[in-house]
Amino acid sequence: MRASLVTHHHKGEVIGPVLGSRGWHLEMIDADTDSLGTFSGDVARPADPVETARRKAQLGRGHSHAPWLVASEGAISAGLLGLARDVEWVVAVPREGAGSVVGVAQSLDVAAFALEIRPGMPDREIAERVAAGLEGGHHLLALRHDHCEPSRGALASVDDVLRACATLGVDSARRVQTDYRAHLCPSRRPVIAAAAEDLAVRWATPCPRCGRGGFGPQSPLSGRPCASCGTPTAEPLGRWWVCPWCAVREARVDNPSPVNASACPTCNP
Ligand SMILES: [Zn+2]
Ligand SMILES: [Zn+2]
Repeated sequence: MRASLVTHHHKGEVIGPVLGSRGWHLEMIDADTDSLGTFSGDVARPADPVETARRKAQLGRGHSHAPWLVASEGAISAGLLGLARDVEWVVAVPREGAGSVVGVAQSLDVAAFALEIRPGMPDREIAERVAAGLEGGHHLLALRHDHCEPSRGALASVDDVLRACATLGVDSARRVQTDYRAHLCPSRRPVIAAAAEDLAVRWATPCPRCGRGGFGPQSPLSGRPCASCGTPTAEPLGRWWVCPWCAVREARVDNPSPVNASACPTCNP
């Protein structure tokens, strides 16, 4: 399988070995994917993450003769118990025509440092508090809330952070946070690799109707039965498997065991 990986942030180091081990031949295309939105908020992301990944991949059209174009996108959001949730997608689109195969993975182990810097906060206090955000080889990014100045990213040391905060204006409201760009954020990389692995697995799974690769689980299938009366509940029974090309879908049951009557709409309305 020949494909081109469209990336601006060295994701080839992460995605390349995964897809390579599955027999893909990847060439790299460097494109200004930041034009489609950045984690810092300097450039707004107009589309949802999967659509953004598709558009990134399509930037490779005209720069590649490979039949497939690959790109990735991630989204960091607040998850349960205050943990950050990282969802990563790695998407393959055909060079000609519509459609895509989407690999996905998620994690609650992503770094999520954030420190609000009030106007006039002393350097010593900033220095003490940002050190935790640099652990594990993570980089930080400093931004002004009003985005009057471009954010300063790739900050690798406490001194880098202090300099960046000063140049953004000591009288302004600023924030120092994890720089989520893939090459600067080690805790995102295994999640991106897992999404690439998921893409490869889907790719190799043919649709039972049209036969094209890409068949895989997409959305939850509810309906585990109540242990008391057998009524289907909202608890997940399995997943809907969907073909991205012909849209055929198939209910696949993973866990048919009954659930407690407390989850039953009949026994516990
Ligand atoms: Zn199909
Ligand atoms: Zn019941």
